[in-house]
Amino acid sequence: MQVIKTNILTPLSVNNIILKKNVFVTISRGLISNISNKHSSAYLDCSDLVCIPGLIDAHVHLSQLYARGKHSTNLLSWLNNHIFSEELKSADESFAKQIARDFFNELLAAGTTTAVVYISPFKTACDLAFEVAESIGNRVIMGKTMMDRGEPGFLRENSDRSYQESVELFKKWNQATSRMEYIFSPRFALSCSPRLMRRTGEFASANDAYIQTHLSENPEEILQVRRLYPQAKNYTHVYEKHKLLTPKTLLGHAIHVNDDELTMIKNSGAGIVHCPDSNFFLKSGRFPLSEIKQKGIRYGLGSDVGAGTSLSMLHVMKMSNYIQNEIIVTPAEAFYNATLGNAELLQKNETLGSIETGKEADLTFLKIKTSSNHTKEGILSALLYLGEDIKVKKVYISGQLVFKPR
Ligand SMILES: [Zn+2]
Repeated sequence: MQVIKTNILTPLSVNNIILKKNVFVTISRGLISNISNKHSSAYLDCSDLVCIPGLIDAHVHLSQLYARGKHSTNLLSWLNNHIFSEELKSADESFAKQIARDFFNELLAAGTTTAVVYISPFKTACDLAFEVAESIGNRVIMGKTMMDRGEPGFLRENSDRSYQESVELFKKWNQATSRMEYIFSPRFALSCSPRLMRRTGEFASANDAYIQTHLSENPEEILQVRRLYPQAKNYTHVYEKHKLLTPKTLLGHAIHVNDDELTMIKNSGAGIVHCPDSNFFLKSGRFPLSEIKQKGIRYGLGSDVGAGTSLSMLHVMKMSNYIQNEIIVTPAEAFYNATLGNAELLQKNETLGSIETGKEADLTFLKIKTSSNHTKEGILSALLYLGEDIKVKKVYISGQLVFKPR
């Protein structure tokens, strides 16, 4: 058991964020067991820091960590000119191990405790990523990218092998520890055959497994999907037809979607991951936030590194505010989205996303400049707009100290 004196800022629901100053947080067996105003025995004093729930990144590509900030004018040319060749590097085991170490350490340095991760299309790289995450202590939902059609030939997988390897990885790693789960990860409709999508969707549904893919990010991509699937009503319908839309599906982007598609997504129970920094970077367009809210579709936030330039969810929160021009994303809403909102998206809000008794002790301690106004509103506003001025000082996952700056 350990006790930490600190100031906690946490959402309790979408409309209720609380700040409690100088409280004692008790952690036992990895969980928050008590939060109180008084404590008589020894404690760790972090009363100069603000403690928030560990940040959650709902969409990020491990194998693209070193390829951030590679200029391109749109999604498809960026993939072809920079990303596919970068992912090929992870075929090499020592490279795959090194990039996994850097990735998981950098996530913690950014205050992120849970991440939903795409690995390159290599089984060994995926095994190594799980091993490294386990040794460092990150909480992950992770899967090998699947791609059995289209370009480039050097990444294209044999269809049966892509499916079999993913199933093997699922059986080996899904819930292998309390911090890891597997997610089936067909890259997008352009790089997956109908058979691969259908088999994957059916297996995932039968085994209550997560699925992630990309949807309607870029107009040229959508045009190519239409050409490949002339009988489908739209891009979303391609996934629906091939069984990929389930309540445990996470759809990255979903920018250029019409009302029929949103209805289809809503009816399936799937969620959407908004990746605003990536959308700015690739000039993909503006996330239809008000339409998605009106439909009542679950949505969350992701960094989408490497098209996103930063692993910092504070930066992603800021971009989610900047990218909208008609509706305002408030500091409270952005904070909720990167914590409890993302936990709800992952159906993990019973255990993650807020600082409450009984929840996992996934905690991020921040040093916020003393010049900031230290009211609840002042801190929330600083989190949204002044991420560069905020230092991550300690990170705990399941009550275990996993990061402290040197
Ligand atoms: Zn992505």
